[in-house]
Amino acid sequence: PDALAALLEKWTPPQAEAKGSTKKVYVADDLRAAIEKGELVNYYQPKVAVTTGDVVGVETLVRWRHPVDGIIFPDQFISVAEAAGLIDALTQVVLTAAITQAKAWQDAQLALRVAVNVSMDNLASLNFLNFVADATATLGIAPHNVVLEVTESRLMQDTRAPLEILTRLRLKRFRLSIDDFGTGHSSLAQLRDIPFDELKIDQGFVHRAWKDETLRAMYDASLALARQLGMEVVAEGVEDRDDWDLLRRTGCDLAQGAFVSPPMLPEHLPGWIESWRERVQKESLIAGKLK
Ligand code: C2E
Ligand code: MG
Ligand code: MG
Ligand code: MG
Repeated sequence: PDALAALLEKWTPPQAEAKGSTKKVYVADDLRAAIEKGELVNYYQPKVAVTTGDVVGVETLVRWRHPVDGIIFPDQFISVAEAAGLIDALTQVVLTAAITQAKAWQDAQLALRVAVNVSMDNLASLNFLNFVADATATLGIAPHNVVLEVTESRLMQDTRAPLEILTRLRLKRFRLSIDDFGTGHSSLAQLRDIPFDELKIDQGFVHRAWKDETLRAMYDASLALARQLGMEVVAEGVEDRDDWDLLRRTGCDLAQGAFVSPPMLPEHLPGWIESWRERVQKESLIAGKLK
């Protein structure tokens, strides 16, 4: 039973997302070629409002469609990109595709915020700020519909540049989100110094927080902190109905996770929204009695 519990703790990706069994290490040259050949593909995962069930936005999650190895997940290549000085190129490719997709949805009357993950390395110079400002202006996407999710993956030598650039992005009305809050990659110091609009409670403090006192304390504290600071709160890693109901009971704003939907290709989003609306009714997700 312990082995089973351990297995259940792990995130089991749905078929389409099945992770490869081999953990291959990719080198900078492979990745550089992949970026040039257009092998990076954006998937999108919905963020939904817990009280209304509305789909308010999507998070862009990049995958590498490798001609031989199949779908490669970002934890196998983002750090390679950062170490090899390829992260600006990668972020530009992901962001351009995401903004282009946002424009297509907007033209189809689908009003969605589109979130993109931004590496701290992207915030070392003004290049990224100029790029995102140009891309959104050119395509007619309002900055307040673009969410920039930032995770601090390691200690920064010089934090002044990123801080200043994030503040400037905020002044341009881009939405700033602090990702994986509570994992050590994100910190109270960042919350103090940068005006974030959104806080994402790390999945490690969400799934099963309803039955684990320690997780629950961390979940509650993160939620309370975000509330006090006037930020919108997203719970990541909502994997089942019990997780969803905890969000409802505690007044969390937005939910993201496998219970709602795994990341999907953009062409599947309109159909998914239809089925989600039906599911919200059928399963009484917003009106049902709470246990
Ligand atoms: P993240 O930004 O925290 O994204 C959430 C991750 O949780 C995604 O993993 C998503 O597929 C996964 N997830 C979704 N629902 C569930 C769930 O119910 N349970 C669990 N346990 N996990 C769930 P993914 O796509 O493998 O991405 C991993 C990380 O890679 C992301 O974490 C983000 O930090 C980074 N990443 C992804 N795309 C990009 C990108 O374009 N640029 C940069 N710099 N980083 C990216
Ligand atoms: Mg993210
Ligand atoms: Mg996260
Ligand atoms: Mg993460």
